[in-house]
Amino acid sequence: PSHHAWDGNGAAVAPTPMPKRLEGKVAIVTGGARGIGEAIVRLFAKHGAPVVIADIDGAAGEALASALGPQVSFVRCDVSVEEDVKRAVDWALSRHGGRLDIYCNNAGVLGRQTRAAKSILSFDAGEFDRVLRVNALGAALGMKHAALAMAPRRAGSIVSVASVASVLGGLGPHAYTASKHAIVGLTKNAACELGAHGIRVNCVSPFGVATPMLINAWRQGHGDADDADLDLDITVPSDEEVEKMEEVVRGLATLKGTTLRPRDIAEAVLFLASDESRYISGHNLVVDGGVTTSRNLIG
Ligand code: NAD
Repeated sequence: PSHHAWDGNGAAVAPTPMPKRLEGKVAIVTGGARGIGEAIVRLFAKHGAPVVIADIDGAAGEALASALGPQVSFVRCDVSVEEDVKRAVDWALSRHGGRLDIYCNNAGVLGRQTRAAKSILSFDAGEFDRVLRVNALGAALGMKHAALAMAPRRAGSIVSVASVASVLGGLGPHAYTASKHAIVGLTKNAACELGAHGIRVNCVSPFGVATPMLINAWRQGHGDADDADLDLDITVPSDEEVEKMEEVVRGLATLKGTTLRPRDIAEAVLFLASDESRYISGHNLVVDGGVTTSRNLIG
Protein backbone atom coordinates (compact mmCIF):
# COMPACT_ATOMS: atom_id res chain seq x y z
CA PRO A 1 0.00 0.00 0.00
CA SER A 2 1.22 3.47 -0.80
CA HIS A 3 0.19 7.07 -1.12
CA HIS A 4 0.06 8.37 -4.64
CA ALA A 5 2.39 11.29 -5.03
CA TRP A 6 2.03 13.74 -7.91
CA ASP A 7 4.55 16.06 -9.46
CA GLY A 8 3.80 19.69 -10.33
CA ASN A 9 2.31 18.74 -13.73
CA GLY A 10 -0.14 16.30 -12.24
CA ALA A 11 1.75 13.24 -13.46
CA ALA A 12 2.21 10.32 -11.11
CA VAL A 13 5.66 9.96 -9.56
CA ALA A 14 7.01 6.98 -7.63
CA PRO A 15 4.70 6.19 -4.72
CA THR A 16 6.03 6.79 -1.23
CA PRO A 17 5.50 4.00 1.30
CA MET A 18 2.49 4.40 3.61
CA PRO A 19 3.74 5.75 6.95
CA LYS A 20 3.54 3.31 9.82
CA ARG A 21 1.54 5.06 12.49
CA LEU A 22 2.33 2.78 15.44
CA GLU A 23 5.99 2.00 14.80
CA GLY A 24 7.54 0.53 17.95
CA LYS A 25 4.39 0.89 20.06
CA VAL A 26 3.38 -2.22 21.99
CA ALA A 27 -0.34 -3.08 21.96
CA ILE A 28 -2.73 -5.49 23.66
CA VAL A 29 -6.07 -6.22 21.98
CA THR A 30 -8.65 -8.16 24.01
CA GLY A 31 -11.07 -10.33 22.08
CA GLY A 32 -8.57 -10.06 19.23
CA ALA A 33 -9.04 -13.61 17.94
CA ARG A 34 -11.91 -12.83 15.56
CA GLY A 35 -14.42 -10.23 14.37
CA ILE A 36 -13.69 -6.56 15.03
CA GLY A 37 -10.78 -7.45 17.34
CA GLU A 38 -9.09 -9.43 14.57
CA ALA A 39 -9.35 -6.41 12.25
CA ILE A 40 -7.76 -4.22 14.96
CA VAL A 41 -4.92 -6.72 15.47
CA ARG A 42 -4.24 -6.87 11.72
CA LEU A 43 -4.27 -3.08 11.31
CA PHE A 44 -2.07 -2.44 14.37
CA ALA A 45 0.45 -5.03 13.13
CA LYS A 46 0.44 -3.48 9.64
CA HIS A 47 1.28 -0.14 11.25
CA GLY A 48 4.34 -1.56 12.97
CA ALA A 49 3.09 -2.39 16.45
CA PRO A 50 4.02 -5.59 18.22
CA VAL A 51 0.59 -6.93 19.25
CA VAL A 52 -0.58 -9.29 21.99
CA ILE A 53 -3.95 -10.95 21.36
CA ALA A 54 -5.73 -11.57 24.70
CA ASP A 55 -8.75 -13.85 24.20
CA ILE A 56 -10.56 -16.84 25.67
CA ASP A 57 -10.53 -18.58 22.28
CA GLY A 58 -7.14 -20.31 22.26
CA ALA A 59 -7.51 -22.05 18.90
CA ALA A 60 -8.48 -18.94 16.92
CA GLY A 61 -6.07 -16.68 18.83
CA GLU A 62 -3.06 -18.97 18.30
CA ALA A 63 -3.93 -19.43 14.63
CA LEU A 64 -4.16 -15.68 14.00
CA ALA A 65 -0.93 -14.98 15.89
CA SER A 66 1.03 -17.57 13.94
CA ALA A 67 -0.44 -16.34 10.64
CA LEU A 68 0.79 -12.80 11.38
CA GLY A 69 4.35 -13.75 12.39
CA PRO A 70 6.59 -13.20 15.44
CA GLN A 71 5.43 -9.60 15.92
CA VAL A 72 2.05 -10.95 17.11
CA SER A 73 1.53 -13.29 20.04
CA PHE A 74 -1.40 -14.83 21.88
CA VAL A 75 -2.16 -15.06 25.58
CA ARG A 76 -5.25 -16.79 26.97
CA CYS A 77 -7.20 -14.26 28.97
CA ASP A 78 -10.75 -13.97 30.29
CA VAL A 79 -11.15 -10.22 30.72
CA SER A 80 -13.60 -10.67 33.59
CA VAL A 81 -10.90 -12.41 35.67
CA GLU A 82 -8.40 -9.96 37.18
CA GLU A 83 -5.47 -12.40 37.34
CA ASP A 84 -5.90 -13.10 33.62
CA VAL A 85 -5.83 -9.40 32.74
CA LYS A 86 -2.73 -8.85 34.88
CA ARG A 87 -1.07 -11.87 33.29
CA ALA A 88 -1.75 -10.51 29.79
CA VAL A 89 -0.20 -7.15 30.70
CA ASP A 90 2.81 -8.85 32.36
CA TRP A 91 3.24 -11.01 29.25
CA ALA A 92 3.34 -7.95 26.98
CA LEU A 93 5.81 -6.15 29.28
CA SER A 94 8.16 -9.10 29.57
CA ARG A 95 8.07 -9.85 25.85
CA HIS A 96 8.49 -6.25 24.66
CA GLY A 97 11.14 -4.59 26.82
CA GLY A 98 8.89 -3.40 29.64
CA ARG A 99 6.69 -1.14 27.56
CA LEU A 100 2.95 -1.02 26.90
CA ASP A 101 1.65 1.86 24.76
CA ILE A 102 -1.84 0.78 23.70
CA TYR A 103 -4.52 -1.27 25.40
CA CYS A 104 -7.67 -2.01 23.44
CA ASN A 105 -10.67 -3.27 25.45
CA ASN A 106 -12.51 -4.93 22.59
CA ALA A 107 -13.74 -8.23 24.12
CA GLY A 108 -17.48 -8.23 24.68
CA VAL A 109 -20.57 -10.39 24.73
CA LEU A 110 -24.07 -9.52 23.62
CA GLY A 111 -26.05 -11.85 25.85
CA ARG A 112 -29.08 -13.93 25.02
CA GLN A 113 -31.31 -12.61 22.28
CA THR A 114 -34.63 -14.38 22.75
CA ARG A 115 -37.65 -12.17 23.33
CA ALA A 116 -37.93 -13.33 26.95
CA ALA A 117 -34.23 -12.78 27.64
CA LYS A 118 -34.43 -9.25 26.21
CA SER A 119 -37.44 -8.12 28.26
CA ILE A 120 -37.08 -6.18 31.49
CA LEU A 121 -40.04 -8.27 32.70
CA SER A 122 -38.31 -11.62 32.30
CA PHE A 123 -34.54 -11.18 32.00
CA ASP A 124 -32.31 -13.55 33.94
CA ALA A 125 -30.18 -12.07 36.74
CA GLY A 126 -27.33 -14.53 36.18
CA GLU A 127 -27.12 -13.63 32.50
CA PHE A 128 -27.22 -9.91 33.37
CA ASP A 129 -24.29 -10.42 35.72
CA ARG A 130 -22.31 -12.36 33.08
CA VAL A 131 -22.67 -9.62 30.46
CA LEU A 132 -21.77 -6.84 32.92
CA ARG A 133 -18.75 -8.79 34.15
CA VAL A 134 -17.28 -9.25 30.69
CA ASN A 135 -18.20 -5.89 29.11
CA ALA A 136 -18.00 -3.43 32.02
CA LEU A 137 -15.82 -5.04 34.70
CA GLY A 138 -13.57 -6.42 31.93
CA ALA A 139 -13.04 -2.91 30.55
CA ALA A 140 -12.39 -1.47 34.02
CA LEU A 141 -9.84 -4.18 34.82
CA GLY A 142 -8.14 -3.51 31.50
CA MET A 143 -7.93 0.21 32.31
CA LYS A 144 -6.52 -0.55 35.75
CA HIS A 145 -3.72 -2.88 34.69
CA ALA A 146 -2.93 -0.98 31.50
CA ALA A 147 -2.65 2.27 33.46
CA LEU A 148 -0.39 0.66 36.07
CA ALA A 149 1.93 -0.46 33.27
CA MET A 150 1.78 2.84 31.33
CA ALA A 151 2.06 5.34 34.19
CA PRO A 152 5.83 4.91 34.85
CA ARG A 153 6.54 5.98 31.24
CA ARG A 154 3.93 8.76 31.48
CA ALA A 155 2.37 7.81 28.13
CA GLY A 156 -0.27 5.52 26.76
CA SER A 157 -3.60 5.20 25.00
CA ILE A 158 -6.51 3.07 26.18
CA VAL A 159 -9.26 2.53 23.61
CA SER A 160 -12.41 0.56 24.40
CA VAL A 161 -14.94 -0.75 21.92
CA ALA A 162 -18.39 0.25 23.16
CA SER A 163 -21.37 0.29 20.74
CA VAL A 164 -24.12 2.55 19.45
CA ALA A 165 -25.93 0.91 22.40
CA SER A 166 -23.77 3.25 24.51
CA VAL A 167 -25.88 6.20 23.34
CA LEU A 168 -29.22 4.64 22.32
CA GLY A 169 -31.73 2.33 23.96
CA GLY A 170 -33.67 -0.45 22.33
CA LEU A 171 -30.78 -2.04 20.42
CA GLY A 172 -29.92 -5.01 22.59
CA PRO A 173 -30.63 -6.76 25.87
CA HIS A 174 -30.75 -4.48 28.92
CA ALA A 175 -27.46 -5.79 30.29
CA TYR A 176 -25.73 -5.05 26.98
CA THR A 177 -27.05 -1.49 26.81
CA ALA A 178 -26.17 -0.91 30.47
CA SER A 179 -22.68 -2.32 29.98
CA LYS A 180 -21.97 -0.16 26.93
CA HIS A 181 -23.21 2.99 28.68
CA ALA A 182 -20.90 1.92 31.51
CA ILE A 183 -17.92 1.87 29.15
CA VAL A 184 -18.57 5.51 28.25
CA GLY A 185 -18.77 6.42 31.95
CA LEU A 186 -15.60 4.52 32.74
CA THR A 187 -13.86 6.16 29.78
CA LYS A 188 -14.75 9.65 31.04
CA ASN A 189 -13.82 8.90 34.64
CA ALA A 190 -10.54 7.21 33.79
CA ALA A 191 -9.66 10.00 31.33
CA CYS A 192 -10.08 12.54 34.18
CA GLU A 193 -7.83 10.58 36.50
CA LEU A 194 -5.20 9.34 34.07
CA GLY A 195 -4.60 12.57 32.16
CA ALA A 196 -2.23 13.62 34.91
CA HIS A 197 -0.15 10.53 34.08
CA GLY A 198 -0.04 11.25 30.34
CA ILE A 199 -2.52 8.48 29.55
CA ARG A 200 -5.46 9.08 27.19
CA VAL A 201 -8.68 7.07 27.47
CA ASN A 202 -11.29 6.95 24.68
CA CYS A 203 -13.85 4.62 23.17
CA VAL A 204 -15.27 3.77 19.75
CA SER A 205 -18.95 2.95 19.22
CA PRO A 206 -19.74 0.83 16.18
CA PHE A 207 -23.07 0.30 14.50
CA GLY A 208 -23.79 -3.22 13.17
CA VAL A 209 -20.84 -5.14 11.76
CA ALA A 210 -21.41 -8.63 10.34
CA THR A 211 -19.22 -10.52 12.83
CA PRO A 212 -19.93 -13.89 14.48
CA MET A 213 -21.50 -11.94 17.40
CA LEU A 214 -24.14 -10.29 15.26
CA ILE A 215 -24.83 -13.34 13.11
CA ASN A 216 -25.30 -15.47 16.22
CA ALA A 217 -27.70 -12.87 17.64
CA TRP A 218 -29.65 -12.70 14.40
CA ARG A 219 -30.06 -16.49 14.37
CA GLN A 220 -31.35 -16.46 17.94
CA GLY A 221 -33.66 -13.51 17.37
CA HIS A 222 -35.21 -15.22 14.35
CA GLY A 223 -35.94 -18.45 16.13
CA ASP A 224 -33.46 -20.54 14.18
CA ALA A 225 -31.98 -21.66 17.48
CA ASP A 226 -33.84 -23.55 20.19
CA ASP A 227 -33.09 -23.11 23.87
CA ALA A 228 -30.29 -25.65 23.83
CA ASP A 229 -28.48 -23.60 21.19
CA LEU A 230 -28.65 -20.28 22.98
CA ASP A 231 -24.95 -20.17 23.69
CA LEU A 232 -24.05 -21.39 20.25
CA ASP A 233 -20.89 -19.82 19.05
CA ILE A 234 -20.09 -19.41 15.37
CA THR A 235 -16.35 -19.12 14.99
CA VAL A 236 -16.34 -18.80 11.21
CA PRO A 237 -19.65 -17.69 9.70
CA SER A 238 -20.25 -18.72 6.08
CA ASP A 239 -19.91 -16.10 3.34
CA GLU A 240 -23.63 -16.47 2.79
CA GLU A 241 -24.38 -15.61 6.44
CA VAL A 242 -22.08 -12.59 6.33
CA GLU A 243 -23.73 -11.30 3.13
CA LYS A 244 -27.21 -11.80 4.57
CA MET A 245 -26.27 -9.96 7.77
CA GLU A 246 -24.65 -7.12 5.83
CA GLU A 247 -27.84 -6.75 3.83
CA VAL A 248 -29.91 -6.48 7.03
CA VAL A 249 -27.54 -3.82 8.42
CA ARG A 250 -27.48 -1.86 5.15
CA GLY A 251 -31.27 -1.74 5.28
CA LEU A 252 -31.11 -0.04 8.69
CA ALA A 253 -28.21 2.28 7.95
CA THR A 254 -28.44 5.97 7.15
CA LEU A 255 -25.45 5.99 4.82
CA LYS A 256 -26.74 4.04 1.84
CA GLY A 257 -24.66 2.03 -0.58
CA THR A 258 -21.83 1.44 1.90
CA THR A 259 -21.22 -1.66 3.97
CA LEU A 260 -19.73 -1.19 7.43
CA ARG A 261 -16.82 -3.60 7.79
CA PRO A 262 -14.62 -4.55 10.81
CA ARG A 263 -11.79 -2.60 9.15
CA ASP A 264 -13.80 0.65 9.47
CA ILE A 265 -13.94 0.20 13.24
CA ALA A 266 -10.25 -0.70 13.34
CA GLU A 267 -9.38 2.57 11.53
CA ALA A 268 -11.16 4.60 14.22
CA VAL A 269 -9.39 2.64 16.97
CA LEU A 270 -6.07 3.17 15.17
CA PHE A 271 -6.61 6.95 15.15
CA LEU A 272 -7.31 7.02 18.90
CA ALA A 273 -4.40 4.67 19.61
CA SER A 274 -1.91 6.72 17.58
CA ASP A 275 -0.21 10.02 18.42
CA GLU A 276 -2.38 11.71 15.78
CA SER A 277 -5.09 11.98 18.46
CA ARG A 278 -2.66 13.15 21.16
CA TYR A 279 -5.02 15.84 22.53
CA ILE A 280 -8.20 13.73 22.49
CA SER A 281 -9.25 12.06 25.74
CA GLY A 282 -12.57 11.01 27.28
CA HIS A 283 -14.21 10.86 23.84
CA ASN A 284 -16.72 8.39 22.41
CA LEU A 285 -16.14 8.16 18.65
CA VAL A 286 -19.33 6.84 17.04
CA VAL A 287 -18.81 4.95 13.77
CA ASP A 288 -22.34 4.45 12.50
CA GLY A 289 -22.76 6.13 9.13
CA GLY A 290 -25.02 8.67 10.80
CA VAL A 291 -27.55 6.27 12.34
CA THR A 292 -27.57 7.78 15.82
CA THR A 293 -28.10 11.28 14.46
CA SER A 294 -30.95 10.27 12.18
CA ARG A 295 -34.62 10.55 13.00
CA ASN A 296 -35.23 7.40 10.93
CA LEU A 297 -34.11 5.20 13.74
CA ILE A 298 -34.26 1.47 13.78
CA GLY A 299 -37.81 0.36 14.62
P1 NAD B 1 -17.29 -11.51 18.27
O1 NAD B 1 -18.17 -12.31 19.18
O2 NAD B 1 -17.30 -11.86 16.83
O3 NAD B 1 -15.79 -11.52 18.82
C1 NAD B 1 -15.56 -11.29 20.18
C2 NAD B 1 -14.21 -11.85 20.59
O4 NAD B 1 -14.10 -11.62 22.02
C3 NAD B 1 -14.09 -13.35 20.37
O5 NAD B 1 -12.80 -13.65 19.86
C4 NAD B 1 -14.28 -13.93 21.76
O6 NAD B 1 -13.59 -15.17 21.96
C5 NAD B 1 -13.71 -12.83 22.64
N1 NAD B 1 -14.23 -12.85 24.01
C6 NAD B 1 -15.52 -13.03 24.42
N2 NAD B 1 -15.58 -13.03 25.77
C7 NAD B 1 -14.32 -12.83 26.22
C8 NAD B 1 -13.74 -12.74 27.51
N3 NAD B 1 -14.48 -12.90 28.62
N4 NAD B 1 -12.41 -12.52 27.61
C9 NAD B 1 -11.65 -12.41 26.50
N5 NAD B 1 -12.13 -12.51 25.25
C10 NAD B 1 -13.46 -12.72 25.12
O7 NAD B 1 -17.75 -9.99 18.48
P2 NAD B 1 -17.47 -8.64 17.63
O8 NAD B 1 -18.71 -8.32 16.89
O9 NAD B 1 -16.16 -8.70 16.94
O10 NAD B 1 -17.41 -7.62 18.86
C11 NAD B 1 -16.23 -7.00 19.35
C12 NAD B 1 -16.65 -5.81 20.21
O11 NAD B 1 -17.39 -4.89 19.41
C13 NAD B 1 -17.57 -6.18 21.38
O12 NAD B 1 -17.24 -5.42 22.52
C14 NAD B 1 -18.94 -5.79 20.87
O13 NAD B 1 -19.85 -5.51 21.91
C15 NAD B 1 -18.61 -4.57 20.05
N6 NAD B 1 -19.61 -4.22 19.05
C16 NAD B 1 -19.91 -5.05 18.02
C17 NAD B 1 -20.86 -4.67 17.09
C18 NAD B 1 -21.24 -5.55 15.92
O14 NAD B 1 -22.18 -5.20 15.22
N7 NAD B 1 -20.54 -6.66 15.67
C19 NAD B 1 -21.53 -3.44 17.22
C20 NAD B 1 -21.21 -2.62 18.28
C21 NAD B 1 -20.24 -3.02 19.19
